[in-house]
Amino acid sequence: MNQNDTDFHDSEAGDVFDLYNACNGVFHDGRLDVRKLDELSEEELQIFNVARLKQIWAHTASGCSACENIIASLDQARGMVRAKVSV
Ligand SMILES: [Zn+2]
Repeated sequence: MNQNDTDFHDSEAGDVFDLYNACNGVFHDGRLDVRKLDELSEEELQIFNVARLKQIWAHTASGCSACENIIASLDQARGMVRAKVSV
């Protein structure tokens, strides 16, 4: 495992959470939709480090189970929020 991989997990929710938010929770082919990173507004570009998010995305896309778990729980939480809003 190279240093970058553990780096993503040191900040656990942090980085993967940012990636999830930057992609707006949209999935494509079972992965977060990385194309969303190219559609961010100027304001969002101030908040997110897109170059780093793309590194994180590449890492999650390599099939890291720790990241998959984080993303799955984020998606579940979001689904619950959605359910509440629609009630
Ligand atoms: Zn990971």
